[in-house]
Amino acid sequence: MDSNNNKQTLLRMLPGVDHILEIARAESFFDDIPKTVLVPSIRSVVEDLRTRILDGSLYITENSLSDTQILKNVKKQAHRAMTPNLLKTINATGVIVHTNLGRSLLADVAVENLITISKRYSNLEFDLAKGKRGSRYSCVEDILCEISGAEAGMVVNNNAGAVLLCLDTIAKEQKVIVSRGELVEIGGSFRIPDVMAKSGAILKEIGTTNRTHLKDYEKAIENDTGLLLKVHKSNYSVVGFTAEVSLGDLVELGAKYHIPVMEDLGSGTFVDFSKYGMIKEPTVQESVATGADVVTFSGDKLLGGPQAGIIVGKKDILDKIKQNPITRALRIDKLTLAALESTFRLYRDEEKAVKSIPTLRMLTLPIDKIEIKASRLNNMLEKMENSRLKMKLINLSSRAGGGALPLLDLPSKCLGVQVEGISVNVVEKFLRENSPPIIGRIEEDFFIMDLRTIQDDELPLIVDAFNNLLKQA
Ligand SMILES: *Cc1c(COP(=O)(O)O)cnc(C)c1O
Repeated sequence: MDSNNNKQTLLRMLPGVDHILEIARAESFFDDIPKTVLVPSIRSVVEDLRTRILDGSLYITENSLSDTQILKNVKKQAHRAMTPNLLKTINATGVIVHTNLGRSLLADVAVENLITISKRYSNLEFDLAKGKRGSRYSCVEDILCEISGAEAGMVVNNNAGAVLLCLDTIAKEQKVIVSRGELVEIGGSFRIPDVMAKSGAILKEIGTTNRTHLKDYEKAIENDTGLLLKVHKSNYSVVGFTAEVSLGDLVELGAKYHIPVMEDLGSGTFVDFSKYGMIKEPTVQESVATGADVVTFSGDKLLGGPQAGIIVGKKDILDKIKQNPITRALRIDKLTLAALESTFRLYRDEEKAVKSIPTLRMLTLPIDKIEIKASRLNNMLEKMENSRLKMKLINLSSRAGGGALPLLDLPSKCLGVQVEGISVNVVEKFLRENSPPIIGRIEEDFFIMDLRTIQDDELPLIVDAFNNLLKQA
């Protein structure tokens, strides 16, 4: 049979969508699949076969056109369509605040509060004492002031929003002085100059990339200077011949000329990490105590809470910020607020915070605990029957991530795995597409998993994934 004839024969054998729909109806698997999912799934499988017949794809045999085979593919397609796109994922990268993998895991109490508030009505904007309309921000303001030492505080959707809102409120149509060494771009294309352009403020760059002095700030001050801005160099570091002006000196300068001073801390933390043997990251309390008029930071970076932008500072400025109409567009959602309030409350007791906030727990996890976890996973994988796995324990470094502590190497223990007969790229892809996905990295032909960011209850899931890999390949 020549290929054209063959194609015609195969096309004639290709069943219609209605026929497949009819036989699908008889199978209980499809009982819970809505027609709006089932029909497009059938259509896509049939269309795919038609295309492959027409382009002469070798893999098409009469068997691939059987009802059973088509139905099997429709099941796969329908299952995929019924699975949510946002999936619980295992972070084996060792990057703790991994923006692509959802940044922070919430503490249990934060999750519990989020669930409680989501299922019921709440006093979100209702003042229970006065019996009338209240403010959505008031539930976190007291605790925020308590743990930061600030006079006032509020929260918005994220820190990019917080920065935009502050600049627009404080320095609309006025100049904002920023050091060239601090014109940062963080992931997701947040650039200080761009945000400034979107707010009504005008950027006034001073100094050089590596060195900026107090006199540079002072020389740049003019009548229309509205703000001195300090941006924490969160995801990079300038080393070598460098000079930057401290927040304290800027506060003094601001006081002399009656110009407010703002600090964007980026990550923002209430914990002094140098106590735990890590590099010092300026804390929120220190910035407030130094006298910054406004301090902004993220809720889901080192703080370990939900996505949010937090603003603390002097009451008169915060009052103005709260009245800016842009706040409405950056409004924080009630579920976030519930999780954020619970997270803030944990910081009343630092020891408790470090134990119960996953981000802090992973950051301060002692190396021996990581080693134990690594050996456990190693043993579990070794025990697998007729396994073709080769393992090695490796000393590598984890990272804080989320644009925080860029110079910090956190010594960690990783498990590298090779699978006999399967290339490491195939292993990586299989695990990435597993349910749940496992995200690691490849180094020297090994699939590397950093145990610091793998949760204890995820170890059996990793073993299952390798089992499935060996079964399929
Ligand atoms: C991360 C970061 C931001 C943005 O914070 P989001 O909460 O991601 O919006 C702004 N400024 C700095 C310095 C940052 O590191």
